[in-house]
Amino acid sequence: MSETTVYLDNAATTPITDNVLEAMLPWLKEGFGNASSLYSLGRRSAIALNKARAQCAEILGCESRNVYFTSGGTESDNTAVSGAARAARETGRRHFITSAFEHHAILEPMKRLAAEGFDITYLPVYENGIVKPSDLEAAIRPETSFVSIMTANNEIGTIQPVTELAGICREHGITFHTDAVQAVGNIPLDMKAAGIDMLSLSGHKLHAPKGIGILCAKDPYPLLLGGSQQNGRRAGTENIAAIVGLAEALRAAAEHTADKNARLRSMQERLITEISKLPGAKLNGDRTQRLPCNVNFSFPGHESETMILKLDLKGIAVSGGSACASGSLEPSHVLSAIGCSYDEAKSSLRITMSDLTTNEDITAFLQALPAVL
Ligand code: PLP
Repeated sequence: MSETTVYLDNAATTPITDNVLEAMLPWLKEGFGNASSLYSLGRRSAIALNKARAQCAEILGCESRNVYFTSGGTESDNTAVSGAARAARETGRRHFITSAFEHHAILEPMKRLAAEGFDITYLPVYENGIVKPSDLEAAIRPETSFVSIMTANNEIGTIQPVTELAGICREHGITFHTDAVQAVGNIPLDMKAAGIDMLSLSGHKLHAPKGIGILCAKDPYPLLLGGSQQNGRRAGTENIAAIVGLAEALRAAAEHTADKNARLRSMQERLITEISKLPGAKLNGDRTQRLPCNVNFSFPGHESETMILKLDLKGIAVSGGSACASGSLEPSHVLSAIGCSYDEAKSSLRITMSDLTTNEDITAFLQALPAVL
């Protein structure tokens, strides 16, 4: 196996940064107490937990009591949909709206609800990969109770007009959830300012460890039952080290967003300009309304898997579509939703950067790609 020297798959996962690791270490060793224990060792963990929760709440623009730590984006998304479904069974408002290119952590629970008799509308995302607020307005019915639209797409990075979408939901008394797993840490997002009711995020996409995430929501319906941790709404002993790491990752991301984005935008521009010169290369998703860290191209006539493996031999890690979809024989549902042909969808490469990405990484990739094609 070749050694990866150029890592350009940060939408799949990111490495833990030194500041995050340093913040976590004391809670993995001497500060191992259970936050529910009464003695000092436990109380210290509880204090760290509350401090981390308050820090996350401030950065995300929500109330501290509405921050629930989960195992990641999937659990946060599943919890949001399950809670909405439970409320809908009580009120009879069983119409939900989402988009055609959500992550499977939203689409699969929606599919299960549809099998149970819920009515689900999937909004189109058009060639540019952006939901139209007018489509949302038109899809709303008296029995609509829940809308979930991601803040930024995981494959093509397109940014959705969540403030407008949330505003429409508010006018109609509908709960608005956003899967912000790819957005948080990459673009500024304030729940209160945007009028978002529920938000999901995942630590490992922003240099915190895997297995930790947040659902911001008022009194979410508990998916996990057991102990009375987190107000009885998410049972299980809290992973203090991971929670502290996530709070630190969010703090660092919020502090550096402006500088980081200027740097990423310039590398993104360089990638798009240079790759566009290659024969047949086609950019997927809007050119400007996309995360500064994301570039996604199709190279019809070339298979994603072959390109990925050839780049891997040169020490470069990129993906075709999303990490969870790769390995599947089906073309990406995201690329199909934006109208890509089968050949275009099966020949895509997703290049995603983080604040650790350097201009040298981009140069190495741009030098390797023509030979691979
Ligand atoms: N939502 C989006 C948009 C994602 O990109 C991902 C992961 O790729 C998830 C949800 C799932 O997050 P996790 O891996 O933390 O369960």
